[in-house]
Amino acid sequence: MDPESVYKSVVEKDNKYVMPTYGRKPLLFTGGKDSTLTDIFGKEYIDCVAGIAVNATGYSNQKLIRAIQEQAACLIHVSNYYYNIPQANLAEKLVSITGLSKVFFCNSGAEANDGAMKLAKLHTKKNSFISTNNAFHGRTIGALGATANIKYRDPFVPLVKPATFVEYGNAPAIEKSITSDTAGVILEPIQGEGGVHVSNKEYLQEVREICDKKDLVLIFDEVQTGFGRTGKWFCKDHYGVLPDILTMAKAIGGGLPLGAFAAREGLSFEKGEHGTTFGGSPLVCAASLAVIETIEEQKLIQNADQMGRYFVEKLSKMKRDDVVNIRGMGLMIGIELNHECGYFMDAAAEQGVLLNVTAGNVIRLLPPLTIQKEEVDRVVAVIESIQKK
Ligand SMILES: *Cc1c(COP(=O)(O)O)cnc(C)c1O
Repeated sequence: MDPESVYKSVVEKDNKYVMPTYGRKPLLFTGGKDSTLTDIFGKEYIDCVAGIAVNATGYSNQKLIRAIQEQAACLIHVSNYYYNIPQANLAEKLVSITGLSKVFFCNSGAEANDGAMKLAKLHTKKNSFISTNNAFHGRTIGALGATANIKYRDPFVPLVKPATFVEYGNAPAIEKSITSDTAGVILEPIQGEGGVHVSNKEYLQEVREICDKKDLVLIFDEVQTGFGRTGKWFCKDHYGVLPDILTMAKAIGGGLPLGAFAAREGLSFEKGEHGTTFGGSPLVCAASLAVIETIEEQKLIQNADQMGRYFVEKLSKMKRDDVVNIRGMGLMIGIELNHECGYFMDAAAEQGVLLNVTAGNVIRLLPPLTIQKEEVDRVVAVIESIQKK
């Protein structure tokens, strides 16, 4: 079949058989290399979405492909009733890069946050959480309870128990909201979906002190900020603040579904207290180990830091009069405009650049950590060229 017919047939089937939750763009990708995706017509796009911060090591990464192929040929899944070579190795590695003590494997970011909150409840024998305005922690009934945007939450209330939401960046507001039933505080060191809001060192340090003082479990949701995205293994490393639980997903599995959370010494589920069928299968853990090794071998954390700085410098020089500010860390960058800019997604795609818009007026850039200078230059030129509507 010619590309046009394939495209038409896929769109037709999708419209007919898939629940229309995503509002798909008229794009159909069939391949990619490094930071570039190719659609079915052969057109190339520099990808600043990266599957939403998932494809950290770029497309067609040979080490990742080989690891998946070899593990698939060997063993894809066994029950968590049994030991598992890649899972044990990955757990050791995650403990080493997070600075925490033990990990639990699940399948997604929302599940990681659900599990983290369950662990905090079990540990403190308390039920409620404090979260922040604009926070996004996922779409399961539990994680939704800590997600601020009422667009996601309201159709489903009552949830198990919605968190109390306080202003992001305001530590005293957290302290004031603590009740005798507060189990913990959950927050993103940089809010992603909420519009790329970066916290500062004092804030996270103060929150840490409050949690210590009041015996609350501090959960950092690093689902989006983890694995080198911000120019360190984890965003917390910029701040020198260690949470009690750190949640991970997105980039961790190289595109295979994997989530995890790591907790400090003395904070752990015991036998039967939590579980999942697929979590940490040999296949996804082998992929994750390849991702982590690639990040190390190709010095992608350093590249994220350098390219992130270069990106912000170039973006700051754009001749646009509608930029409110440019913020972020490493390759997690937000450009706030003084108007709605959802149309930027289509306009940029037209010119061969994929980007994402969040919170209505923030262009969010999350390219693979492999992105190079010339690609950054091209992306900036395209963003600069899109007219204000
Ligand atoms: C994407 C995201 C989640 C949810 O992850 P899923 O894998 O989609 O469930 C949770 N927290 C943050 C910060 C995220 O960016």
